[in-house]
Amino acid sequence: MSETIVVAIDGPAGSGKSSVSKAVARALGFAYLDTGAAYRAAAWHVLSCASDVNDPGAVAATLEGSRLSVRTDADDFCVLVGDTDVTNAIREPRVTEAVSAVSRVPEVRARLNKLFHHTISHCTLPGIVVEGRDITTVVAPDAETRILLTADERVRMERRGLEAPAHSRNDLTRQVRDRDAADARVSEFMTAADGVVTIDSTNLSFDQTVEAVVSHIRSATT
Ligand code: C5P
Repeated sequence: MSETIVVAIDGPAGSGKSSVSKAVARALGFAYLDTGAAYRAAAWHVLSCASDVNDPGAVAATLEGSRLSVRTDADDFCVLVGDTDVTNAIREPRVTEAVSAVSRVPEVRARLNKLFHHTISHCTLPGIVVEGRDITTVVAPDAETRILLTADERVRMERRGLEAPAHSRNDLTRQVRDRDAADARVSEFMTAADGVVTIDSTNLSFDQTVEAVVSHIRSATT
């Protein structure tokens, strides 16, 4: 691994880890790797090939030989499958619904973990913020700074719900719970592993959360 400072951030859906991680990377001049975007790109590809997301063999075969790439520039973020820009498409509900099943397939995890390690070791900036659900434990257990970003379930639902119309908030709550439960079968992201610092954003604004993470990174790396 290079001299780059690696900041690993885990957390459940709605903890704000993507937006917080991106803002932290910007504040520190670091790269930003959204590993969830890579899993979403894999799910998008499986759907676009009309393969069965619940058939692990079909998922693995569909992804073999595909080209997935995730840019690590926090100001110019983009996700490609082959030459197709899927940055917006991977946020569609059909992809969100399919992603847990796709990310459970061992070949998919092995393939993407290899991509993440390659991205981290080729980073040319002073640091990289890597966020996802198993980053502190599986992808970068040796990172200089490892953080579990969390918040009470009620607050996480509210934050997600702000983007949704009132009538669909119950559906949203159910979807977030279901996705966390499905993902928890693969990785532990609700409790901090040894050496991982928990930052609870339940009573913090977005800016306060970014500040808490930045000051933790500064104190851990100077
Ligand atoms: O973070 P985001 O919600 O975009 O992640 C989408 C999905 O990708 C998660 O629900 C999970 O199924 C999968 N994922 C994963 N491991 C990671 C990051 C994401 O399994 N490191």
